[in-house]
Amino acid sequence: MGYDVIVVGARIAGAATALLLARHGFRVLAVDRAAFPSDTLSSHQIQPPGVERLARWGLLDQLAGAPPAHRVRFDTRGAVLEGAFPAGAAIHSPRRTVLDHALVEAARTAGAEVRERWRVEELLWEGGRVAGVRGSSPGGQHRVERAPLVVGADGKRSFVARAVGARTYRQRPPRSFACYTYWADVPVTAGELHQREGIAAAVFPTNDDLTMVYLSAPLTGFDAFRAAPEANYLAALDRCGDLGARVRAGTRAERLRTTPDLPNHFRQAHGPGWCLVGDAGVTMDPVTAQGIANALRDAEGLAGAIAAGIGGVRPLAAALAAHQRDRDRALRPMYDLTLRLATYHSGPGERLLLRALAERRRPAEIERLFGTFAGMSPVDDFFNAGTALRLLGMGGLLRLVGERLAAVAAGRLCTSLPGR
Ligand SMILES: Cc1cc2nc3c(=O)[nH]c(=O)nc-3n(C[C@H](O)[C@H](O)[C@H](O)COP(=O)(O)OP(=O)(O)OC[C@H]3O[C@@H](n4cnc5c(N)ncnc54)[C@H](O)[C@@H]3O)c2cc1C
Repeated sequence: MGYDVIVVGARIAGAATALLLARHGFRVLAVDRAAFPSDTLSSHQIQPPGVERLARWGLLDQLAGAPPAHRVRFDTRGAVLEGAFPAGAAIHSPRRTVLDHALVEAARTAGAEVRERWRVEELLWEGGRVAGVRGSSPGGQHRVERAPLVVGADGKRSFVARAVGARTYRQRPPRSFACYTYWADVPVTAGELHQREGIAAAVFPTNDDLTMVYLSAPLTGFDAFRAAPEANYLAALDRCGDLGARVRAGTRAERLRTTPDLPNHFRQAHGPGWCLVGDAGVTMDPVTAQGIANALRDAEGLAGAIAAGIGGVRPLAAALAAHQRDRDRALRPMYDLTLRLATYHSGPGERLLLRALAERRRPAEIERLFGTFAGMSPVDDFFNAGTALRLLGMGGLLRLVGERLAAVAAGRLCTSLPGR
């Protein structure tokens, strides 16, 4: 059977792209070297724009086993902000075993062929274009599959991106390492974000009555951390109010997962016969937990561009170029904010802003802050001079501006926003 599109990688970005393309009526093959359901090295907070897409695609019911967090408690160096997301939105935290499998099954139901345990080893080229893939199953049988378009949805270390030589831009060195696991008997009523100098932690309820507790910190401390990961993880949580004590009173249900492999880059999104989606296209430090929602957004944009291109609405290359521009415009501000948060440091003026927000207890401002952090509104909608003036007055605003200019002069931009 011939395919219109082959998708390499069938987790968030790949399965979502396959699902949407199949719903457009295309013949789609999605392949993954993994089998599903299976876990992957990632926590799983889905920001509200991602939740909204999953709901629109009819998948939210299958994710109901993880209680949504409509409210967040953000404890930033002792200033505590508690509030809701705008418009009743919530962060959902289904385990990747559940989310990725639901997407794979939805893609199948929509008519895509999903082939598990099948690793792509080579791209086929014809006349200067990618024309298909060569891959194999664990038994070792090699097979060639052809399609006029191959989508790399194969993650941050994308094989497809390397094979086509996709240009990388806005690349920044990894800044963080992360360490997380799951706890029984650590009850939570809301999502929790904790910031202390040099660390961030996040706490969210997930499936099976477990609570995910996530820690991240500057990569420079990784060697010292990994000498005694569990002791260092707990010691860091001890710095976050009563979080350490609450976690110690619970039971660790799974092993610790630790990784220093947290790159930051954009990649060229398309070329002759190929495109990239999800982490294969844009990867950012998970300190702001944007990757899943970004991948779902990207899948929707890419599927629309492919449908317009193959369907003859506009030339495919033009549709893909417009999609890349839209992707970059949409993700750039959060990418920059994420990189700043991944310094795990904030200046006194910025701390003053958050303290003012905590002390004045203005639910509408807190909601706006959480909505911005969740990717529901542009970063600049909250972090602007008007907000600082309202919360700090002219003196505070000038102090913030002075601090920002000093940071720029020092070659370093820092801010204190609710990263985890
Ligand atoms: C520690 C950590 C915590 C994170 N926490 C969050 C969070 O809380 N919220 C959030 O939104 N994001 C989070 N992220 C980011 C999130 O994991 C990614 O953004 C998301 O997984 C991207 O989805 P994807 O489908 O693009 O890629 P992936 O999920 O990486 O999927 C790629 C797939 O491609 C397959 N593949 C690769 N090469 C081949 C090949 N040659 N042949 C066949 N198959 C192949 C792989 O098996 C894999 O299944 C976190 C990331 C990390 C590392």
